[in-house]
Amino acid sequence: MALSIALFLFQTIFIRSLADILSSPIEYLKGVGPYRGDLLKKELNIFTFKDLLQHFPYRHVDKTKINLIREITPDTEYVQIAGKLISIEIIGEKRAKRLVAELRDTSGVIELVWFQGISWIQKSLQTGSDYLVYGKISFFQGNKQITHPEIEPLNQNITNDKFILEPVYPSTEKLKAKGLGGRQLGKLTRFLLSLLTEKDIPEILPDSVTHQLKLLSRFNAFTSIHFPENMESYNHALNRLKFEELFIAQLRVGMIKSQRHRYSKGIVFSQVGDLFNTFYSKYLPFELTGAQKKVLKEIRKDTASGRQMNRLLQGDVGSGKTAVALLSMLLAADNGYQSCLLSPTEILARQHYDHFSEMTKDISLTVALLTGSTKSKERKKILDQLANGSLDILIGTHAIIEDTVQFSNLGFAVIDEQHRFGVAQRAKLWNKSTIPPHILVMTATPIPRTLAMTAYGDLDYSVMNELPPGRQPVRTVHRYEDKRSQVMDFIRAEILKGKQAYIIFPLIEESEKLDYENLMKGYENVKAYFPEPKYWMSMVHGRQTNVVRETNMQRFLNKDTQIMVATTVIEVGVNVPNATVMVIESAEKFGLSQLHQLRGRVGRGNDKSFCILLTSVKLNNEARERLKIMCATTDGFKIAEKDMEIRGPGDIAGTKQSGMLDFKLADLICDGHWLDLAAKMASRLLDTDPELNATENLTLKNHLLLQYGKTQWSKIS
Ligand code: ADP
Ligand code: MG
Repeated sequence: MALSIALFLFQTIFIRSLADILSSPIEYLKGVGPYRGDLLKKELNIFTFKDLLQHFPYRHVDKTKINLIREITPDTEYVQIAGKLISIEIIGEKRAKRLVAELRDTSGVIELVWFQGISWIQKSLQTGSDYLVYGKISFFQGNKQITHPEIEPLNQNITNDKFILEPVYPSTEKLKAKGLGGRQLGKLTRFLLSLLTEKDIPEILPDSVTHQLKLLSRFNAFTSIHFPENMESYNHALNRLKFEELFIAQLRVGMIKSQRHRYSKGIVFSQVGDLFNTFYSKYLPFELTGAQKKVLKEIRKDTASGRQMNRLLQGDVGSGKTAVALLSMLLAADNGYQSCLLSPTEILARQHYDHFSEMTKDISLTVALLTGSTKSKERKKILDQLANGSLDILIGTHAIIEDTVQFSNLGFAVIDEQHRFGVAQRAKLWNKSTIPPHILVMTATPIPRTLAMTAYGDLDYSVMNELPPGRQPVRTVHRYEDKRSQVMDFIRAEILKGKQAYIIFPLIEESEKLDYENLMKGYENVKAYFPEPKYWMSMVHGRQTNVVRETNMQRFLNKDTQIMVATTVIEVGVNVPNATVMVIESAEKFGLSQLHQLRGRVGRGNDKSFCILLTSVKLNNEARERLKIMCATTDGFKIAEKDMEIRGPGDIAGTKQSGMLDFKLADLICDGHWLDLAAKMASRLLDTDPELNATENLTLKNHLLLQYGKTQWSKIS
């Protein structure tokens, strides 16, 4: 006993003497100790006092609200019951061994069951005593049960407590078995809070911000989020801390961006010259949309500023991003600089190359294509031309970023259809020129606005939310597989009108044998409906050699074939405006953004186009939801929002790695309003004090430095 008091005193003094109590290791908190400390680290990543403070409750239980056992129905989820323990015994052997207790209240009896920590729990409970029990209801052989409930002696004073809302925390079975369940963690937190004063949780937000938004002080927010007096004070605390998270994140990306704007050296494109002007007035086959013009102006402004541009162009499928890329590259050429365009697939690179060569054949510009399958003689020629400056535009796949590819003066790099181009790869592009080239990243499909603001907030950012005129929205329908022959009839009717069709099969992994066999079977099946020589088909998939793939693609482009059977190799970017039908087989296997991309292959001309989603009859709810969304809208921005709602922000392609989405409380799906506010306040603050050097902003700056280290403008996410 004496020892433990001494230890406690020692711990307390040790902790107090630290400048920052919150960085103390978790095992030093009274009631934790080395063993539970280890568990907390392993199970919940709680290493320090601060981690515990930031382990937030996911709900609060009203301690005054006790359920009656009689009232429990199969729909009941969580209950809180007060009653007497009438029996407790170990049942079963070995793996089936469990502890079963019965608890009786005035209305009935319920079973409590434990599979882990059996002897420890048995020792801590006493028949005949009153307990308060909380947990999730299940029914086993008709009996009401709570498995691994949280249980504590019924405290008569409970309702005199100022805080009747008791926090419940995320926990694990292991922790529960050791007395650190969802509610018991609250006891630790409560003790921790009793050690803290305002000094330990100082305000970091500038006064101007807390005043204007009437935010709770930081200390009060941390107290009330765990132990609120009522739900209203909980909400105040939650909002304050959510805002703080978003504000800090927006400050961080804002600082990276503004530092780049202020310090990076960029190549200056001082003039719009003959190439751009001639092409624009003579050869561009259409009038640019308002959105395209707006983005070009933004690029023009950036590239003339003397700072390096690092811009993300968000445009829906079919909004005409390619034209923006081409015109920007002409601008580079007008200023004596080379440019490159990097595509995710070889098919797409070739398509861009053909398109660019064709469009620019009457102006003096040299364009080349470099991919993994470029022959070595051709490759050598291209590399020579690149190095001596006689090549203006290089189009290609990742082959472009290899170290052996050296430009004479790279001024502009476009990355097409892939916002998730890796940081390291982009850094390689930077290194191809003494002054880093301007970079334009074009998205494959739209990203939800809130996600873009956070994950890509350090980039300059353009949106093209306008399609070229005359486009009719693609009509999308969902059909079960037993209607396949009607679908084939429909395709036939379109072909007879001179149109073309895609039929897509899921081939998630090119190596998957089963998928491959399905594709072959599917191909034969389609062929039976469309026999030669009246009809011709192309097929494109990842197991073909490049040559075969190219030939098939080319034949479809030239209208020599009317049907393209393909896997998702075709997914991104491919442009055949004469195709008006897109059939997606096993559509339930695809994600929303993939379906949207695939659908984007039709509706690229002025004719009415159709997308038919074929599925089996058995569908899970999530798949059903996806199909419903696809049929309801063609707006890629809306689809992206829905996608995020279904999958959560972390799962949206490419954003996980960005490390900018580490929110404990804020939720990008429903906190858009707080994010906007945070972004506005952050940018206002950075406008007046870009480095946060003003006295009133120093705490904030320190907090940022502690959390993230020195911000680095060279980061490109
Ligand atoms: P994405 O943004 O999906 O990459 P593309 O650049 O491939 O779209 O353009 C889709 C189609 O729209 C192409 O056939 C292109 O020629 C055409 N297009 C682009 N801009 C315009 C415009 N302003 N007016 C008419 N057609 C356009
Ligand atoms: Mg494109």
